[in-house]
Amino acid sequence: MGLQRGLTLKIVKYIALYAAGLLVGIGVFAIRTDWLGFVVFAVIFLGGLIILVYWHAHTFYYRCQCCGNVFAISTLKDLISPHGLQRENGWKFLCCPKCKKWSKAQIVPKDNSEPTQ
Ligand SMILES: [Zn+2]
Repeated sequence: MGLQRGLTLKIVKYIALYAAGLLVGIGVFAIRTDWLGFVVFAVIFLGGLIILVYWHAHTFYYRCQCCGNVFAISTLKDLISPHGLQRENGWKFLCCPKCKKWSKAQIVPKDNSEPTQ
């Protein structure tokens, strides 16, 4: 439980950091409402989003609820697949590469497990 909570806090911290960066971007755009201000805003917005999703996709594995298979996903899949929180645990709606069933795959930190496939 403690580990999952710690990870959730880490994610919240990263998102807060990203939100702060976005506010700076909006501030710059408010002062400079020309193309340069917009470019600064767009770079922070897109760059932050890519870094966040890339970090997320490379920090976690996912455990299938049907067969228990642990697998990694790509950055793109991480970005487009629906996800949420259930009590203490994070989940992502994914198709398992082993049993081919869709389930709310449980998020597991990479440090603690190896993928079974
Ligand atoms: Zn499975």
